[in-house]
Amino acid sequence: MSTPILLLNAGSSSIKYQVIDADDEAVLASGIIQRIGDESGTIDHTVDGQTHHQTRGFPNHGRALTVLTQMFDEFGPSLASVKAVGHRTVHGGAEFNSTTLIDDEMLEHLRKLSPLAPLHNPPAIAGIAAARRVLPDVPHVAIFDTAFFATLPPEAYTYAVPRELAAEHGIRKYGFHGTSHSYVSRKVADVLGKPYDSFNQIVCHLGNGASISAVDHGVAVEASMGLTPLAGLVMGTRSGDVDPGLHAFLARQVGMSIDDIDTTLNKKSGMLGLCGATDFRDINELVGDGDEAATLALAVYTHRLLSYIGSYIAILGGVEAITFTAGVGENNPLLRAAIAKRLAFLGVTLDDTVNDTRSKEPRVISTPESSIAILVVPTNEELAMARETKAAIGA
Ligand code: AMP
Repeated sequence: MSTPILLLNAGSSSIKYQVIDADDEAVLASGIIQRIGDESGTIDHTVDGQTHHQTRGFPNHGRALTVLTQMFDEFGPSLASVKAVGHRTVHGGAEFNSTTLIDDEMLEHLRKLSPLAPLHNPPAIAGIAAARRVLPDVPHVAIFDTAFFATLPPEAYTYAVPRELAAEHGIRKYGFHGTSHSYVSRKVADVLGKPYDSFNQIVCHLGNGASISAVDHGVAVEASMGLTPLAGLVMGTRSGDVDPGLHAFLARQVGMSIDDIDTTLNKKSGMLGLCGATDFRDINELVGDGDEAATLALAVYTHRLLSYIGSYIAILGGVEAITFTAGVGENNPLLRAAIAKRLAFLGVTLDDTVNDTRSKEPRVISTPESSIAILVVPTNEELAMARETKAAIGA
């Protein structure tokens, strides 16, 4: 048996994709289309370890999907064998709290949620519509970044703003990166050899976007991202938490428009705004060279992360595991060591050799004596999406 599933992750100017056999979980193809909307974009299609690169014009997501099918026709594998398409969809609002089969009516509901995620949902919807046109005969499902956090309790998701305003517009914390937090937190249970619902844990998803979650005996109870994926930790280009009064200040005192403010906080802030670099390889190098801005940026990043970890330990009433994942979390022993050192007062001790060893495997990096297990677990959102899609189509 084989159940090849096409996974699509459509952003505003790019589409990442993979075909995964949901039975043996092998990656059959992967690729990325970049610079959608430009006159000359690129597609990199990898199959059997070989990457095929082409430059094409992608005026829109529809054209990008057509070229994607041509790449599959030319270089394989055949899309005719694909049993379903899973779409990463950022915002499910309060309506969609689990993976959902897509039909016209569902897509209409999803369109209505776009104001909640104006930067993220419209490209996902464009990707869904285009993919349904080129692959009309297989089921399409939406996998929501918010779904894992549907279990947050009201005291965690409620903002202290007028009740009526919040109710009318769906204003509350939703949490994002749920597919990764779900995948990683379950993997932690496997690594520790414990039932998922038998312990408390914290997962730090530190990639270009960054978020942290608290999971109480298998139930997500806190998340750092909010109404939008801008809240919480310092990120590559996103500010994370700022005083909510900053928006009014920038509008009144600096004369910035709402769109300028949104762009500044989403695309020009975070590590980029603080030190001009987003990639932690560059940031670590700058810090090594004694660059003051990069040193402060890293200190701000670490301080914010530590303050969330401390808060979540209190909310959970103690934790058995704290896990690092995604590009920054998986590849930065220095950052992990800095956090562990600050948690030494709780009895946390790292095994420095294991922490410093590069590996793609999930692993415990704390000593056996450590009061809290510290782990690195590589995330795999595509695999999690393939599993979700398989379950949704009942394959
Ligand atoms: P992600 O969004 O999970 O793909 O993470 C991307 C980020 O991970 C990059 O911007 C880097 O900051 C970081 N990253 C990836 N590889 C490394 C590495 N080898 N060393 C340090 N940071 C890395």
